[in-house]
Amino acid sequence: MEVDFGPLAKAGSIMGSGGMIVLSEEDCMVDISKFYLTFTQEESCGKCTPCREGTTRMLEILEKVTSGKGEMSDLDRLERLAKLCQQTSLCGLGRAAPNPILSSLKHFREEYVEHIVDKKCAAKKCVALIKYEISADTCIGCTVCAPNCPTECTTGTRKEVHVIDQDRCVKCGQCFEVCRFDAVERV
Ligand code: SF4
Ligand code: SF4
Ligand code: SF4
Repeated sequence: MEVDFGPLAKAGSIMGSGGMIVLSEEDCMVDISKFYLTFTQEESCGKCTPCREGTTRMLEILEKVTSGKGEMSDLDRLERLAKLCQQTSLCGLGRAAPNPILSSLKHFREEYVEHIVDKKCAAKKCVALIKYEISADTCIGCTVCAPNCPTECTTGTRKEVHVIDQDRCVKCGQCFEVCRFDAVERV
């Protein structure tokens, strides 16, 4: 697609300040929608109801979905609110705020459904929907992960497979970062 005002507007997008962000399969479209809506909700001046209340309610729904508590009926509510906000807000901020939601619902709806029905985030970005596990096949018991765990929930002795106490894990990802043997898995 030609990157210019006309072609982008035709595709339902906007040029904005000219910046472009490239996303991959490692990004979660529900999380991305939440990221943008968090920004616009904070920027809303509050003068008109559709933007003030609409962005707040839409953000609540996205938080519900990304924390694994979403229901399929939330998608209809989200779409209805997004269109209302887009059509009736006073200025460009409120009118553009729902764009990431409507666009991602149109092109990546299956990701929303996966979060709601399977309680999974394939991109492993939604913290509430992932967990960290140590593979017994690859852990060599180097002990590096244990002292790096802020809640001391990774235990094990030298040269033995380490274990994570899931009840105490706060999913900070520190063990995943420090393990040099790819033994910590994000599932
Ligand atoms: S749409 Fe514009 S005027 Fe209305 S609350 Fe949002 S920022 Fe304020
Ligand atoms: S850092 Fe990796 S290899 Fe070392 S004990 Fe922890 S999980 Fe096992
Ligand atoms: S994700 Fe964080 S809290 Fe959980 S086991 Fe790893 S280091 Fe500890």
